[in-house]
Amino acid sequence: MSLSSSQKAVLTGVVRGKIQWDVPLSAWTTYRIGGPADALVTLLDVEDLQEVLKFCRLEELRWKLLGRGSNILAADEGFGGIVIVLGEGFKYIGRDPERDQGSNWVKSGAGVGLAKLSSWCADSGLSGFEFASGIPGTVGGGVVMNAGAWGRSMADVIRSIELVDHDKIEIISEKHLNFSYRTCRVLAGRKNAVVTGVTMSFKTAAPEQIKETIRTLKEKRKERQPYGQPNCGSVFRNPEEISAGQLIDEAGLKGRRIGDAAVSEKHANFIVNCGQASAHDVLALIDEIKERVMQTSGVELIPEVQFLG
Ligand SMILES: Cc1cc2nc3c(=O)[nH]c(=O)nc-3n(C[C@H](O)[C@H](O)[C@H](O)COP(=O)(O)OP(=O)(O)OC[C@H]3O[C@@H](n4cnc5c(N)ncnc54)[C@H](O)[C@@H]3O)c2cc1C
Repeated sequence: MSLSSSQKAVLTGVVRGKIQWDVPLSAWTTYRIGGPADALVTLLDVEDLQEVLKFCRLEELRWKLLGRGSNILAADEGFGGIVIVLGEGFKYIGRDPERDQGSNWVKSGAGVGLAKLSSWCADSGLSGFEFASGIPGTVGGGVVMNAGAWGRSMADVIRSIELVDHDKIEIISEKHLNFSYRTCRVLAGRKNAVVTGVTMSFKTAAPEQIKETIRTLKEKRKERQPYGQPNCGSVFRNPEEISAGQLIDEAGLKGRRIGDAAVSEKHANFIVNCGQASAHDVLALIDEIKERVMQTSGVELIPEVQFLG
């Protein structure tokens, strides 16, 4: 459903941040795929956010929060609604002055990049976030997806989150978040709310040692994952006890291509955009992979990538 001209006029008055109309989502997703969103708003702060959420609720408009779009496949037809991006007021990082009594608590806005926060922690001699250095999402997206690598995930460091909807601001502590593999169950049930900030706790270590670990992990990523071709990271969740990549490889699908979407030769759980791939190409490949893996191993693969539009 497109925004009417009167809705556009009201939205223009509501948003204090920036509004863009008919924005191609290919420019906002790491896949470089996706048709236009009716509107994309980059919001200044929590107040700005709540005003937009109220407006969407009143007008019964669809909206979607986008971090870096690094786990999103956006439809070729685009998104009939408002895409919300967290702007400057959601990009703070600092020690938590209320809680930092030797326990190394940090506060971060949800719009901060995971890699940036990882590097800030390294400079500050805080260890525990090295795993996130190569994940190209935001802190907010990381919490929603319980992003992880090398045996660690957001669940290991998050102490609380700030969650905002049209009329409330809640602080939810880790014990109520119910994290599991690539999911935060509480947030999966709160699609009308936005993570705006987090508190985390870390251990201390020498900055050089932390930076060395980050360098090593980045090298390992480079060896194992496709670089230079747009993608969304792992397309499927790993089933218990075996990796999705291994199952796809064993089904003989490395290099399989539909249109400009191809199963990476380097890592079979990555589908790369070789140039002008459409969401239809990627979806057709996802369907074929699911079918072939079911035939060869009897395992049902479940997508980790999220679909928009
Ligand atoms: C090259 C590459 C490597 C990757 N490696 C890894 C990896 O090692 N481990 C891993 O776990 N993932 C990996 N990913 C996937 C992706 O980076 C993560 O899932 C990341 O957490 C997504 O963050 P994002 O900010 O881009 O969220 P998006 O992709 O923009 O959004 C993902 C979901 O979170 C929601 N969301 C985002 N921000 C908020 C918020 N503030 N409040 C409420 N909802 C929100 C969105 O609406 C959407 O439903 C990789 C991706 C790429 C492209």
